[in-house]
Amino acid sequence: MNCPYCGKDLLEGKLIGDHHQLRWLPKDKKLLFGLWAAGGLRIGTRMPSQKAEAATYYCSYCKKMIIDVDNC
Ligand SMILES: [Zn+2]
Repeated sequence: MNCPYCGKDLLEGKLIGDHHQLRWLPKDKKLLFGLWAAGGLRIGTRMPSQKAEAATYYCSYCKKMIIDVDNC
């Protein structure tokens, strides 16, 4: 896959979290009680015995990442 900004090859890797599901929240959404991302978009996978992770493509020139949210 190529970077949509500069066209160079993207590096394939993983975004690794902790023991909670990774989520994306819109800018105007606040955490519920300051703790939970209720209503956020789930990103990647999280199995009970593993850390959360999401397949990610990274451009080291533009310093941007691309995440496919279809693997949720
Ligand atoms: Zn780039």
